[in-house]
Amino acid sequence: PAKTMDELVSLCKRRGFIFQGSEIYGGMQGAYDYGPLGIELKNNLKAAWWRSMVYERDDVEGLDAAIVQNKHVYKYSGHEDTFTDPMVDCHDCKSRLRADHMKDIKVCDNCGSTNVTEPRDFNLMFKTNVGPMVDEESYTYLRPETAQGIFTNFKNVVDSTSRTLPFGIAQIGKSFRNEITPRNFIFRVREFEQMELEFFCKPGEDEKWHDFWVNTRKQWWLDQGLTEENIEFEYVTGDDLAHYSKSTVDILYKFPHGLEELEGVANRTDYDLGSHTKAQEEFGLSAKVKKNEHSTAKLAIRDLEANKWEVPFCIEPSAGLDRGLLAVMTEAYTEEELENGTTRTVLKFKPHLAPIKVAIMPLKKNKPEIVALAKELKNKLQKLGLGRILYENTGNVGKGYRRHDEVGTPICVTVDFDSIEKEGAPVTVRDRDTMEQIVVNAADLPAYVINYFIN
Ligand code: ATP
Repeated sequence: PAKTMDELVSLCKRRGFIFQGSEIYGGMQGAYDYGPLGIELKNNLKAAWWRSMVYERDDVEGLDAAIVQNKHVYKYSGHEDTFTDPMVDCHDCKSRLRADHMKDIKVCDNCGSTNVTEPRDFNLMFKTNVGPMVDEESYTYLRPETAQGIFTNFKNVVDSTSRTLPFGIAQIGKSFRNEITPRNFIFRVREFEQMELEFFCKPGEDEKWHDFWVNTRKQWWLDQGLTEENIEFEYVTGDDLAHYSKSTVDILYKFPHGLEELEGVANRTDYDLGSHTKAQEEFGLSAKVKKNEHSTAKLAIRDLEANKWEVPFCIEPSAGLDRGLLAVMTEAYTEEELENGTTRTVLKFKPHLAPIKVAIMPLKKNKPEIVALAKELKNKLQKLGLGRILYENTGNVGKGYRRHDEVGTPICVTVDFDSIEKEGAPVTVRDRDTMEQIVVNAADLPAYVINYFIN
């Protein structure tokens, strides 16, 4: 794994994974742009999440709600009142700092001074105006989590799919938080993506499902290439528990800057649906909620056995896509001593996450038959739908291998003179991890590649 954030940051920029946002204007703190390879990696990680959370289960539906929503959503969700971090000012260096995890900081971590104010609450939501009239009422917020769009659509999803408990709604999308001190590359940023599942179940079955999701989510991260020794659980208690949570287990990962939260799995009880439902008094809610004077829908489901309407409990595994990508890159980053005394940098991504699946390189730049066969193979493999297959004609295969090691391309295919002269059109297939080369006939290449990526 990577030992320092610097080596990751520099590889990300050099090879086109991640760039500082607004770089040409001096940058923008807490905002990063994903480059040509970063977007592929991100899409692959999202697809892997969606596959396991939606397609491979028959009890989860997908959703894509709007980012900008009615401000009442945040009034009743509790974000307007409580979505805050404690903040202090340093009198000496004039910086503003986040007082971590509700513990007062006595020392400014910017300049070391002890001359700091008492902590005060800072709301992390971005406020924005909606429509051409700018007045007291025309504001809302950019969503600070995707979850609220799931709760507000609960009735729509139930009515359109006839779901009964237990079932879940999954969503991937952007969230925004005006973090006091964004830092550690893409670990803490102001605009990020979340992959969230809200899993609804009967009260009383919530603890069982909470355990289930904690373990299922950990296994998923292992399937993305993270290793057991770099993952830990943290059982969140007391003051650190969010206002809506009965219990939360954070899945922590050993990032280059330290052991920190990658995903949170919270038991949100009936707090959210209970907060957003109309006729709250009918349901005997277990959570303490604000009285809702605006909602027009009952967010409840019929319990057929007990023959009554019930507000389900909710278990939420909430993962950060950017943090996930950082963890996957950290883990994949490898520097290897080679026998000839040189070193090579390799990103040992799991094949399904690799930004480029196969690179096809003609040995000679300007030999038309070689070039034609290489292009034909590219088109054939591209049609398999595995992801990006790159035809790359630089005429320097050795350099190509090194470059593709560094961006984690699992397979390089070289088309050479044998390929156009010998029967069966043999091509050389080189493996990223073992660096072994084998010969495969052109006609057998699609089957070889499918077998490599699907199994
Ligand atoms: P932290 O304590 O690190 O601020 P949190 O507990 O506030 O995180 P949650 O509200 O549980 O985070 O959000 C769920 C997930 O969303 C987190 O586990 C993380 O992966 C991701 N996330 C939250 N805030 C950020 C951020 N500012 N930048 C990148 N990812 C984030």
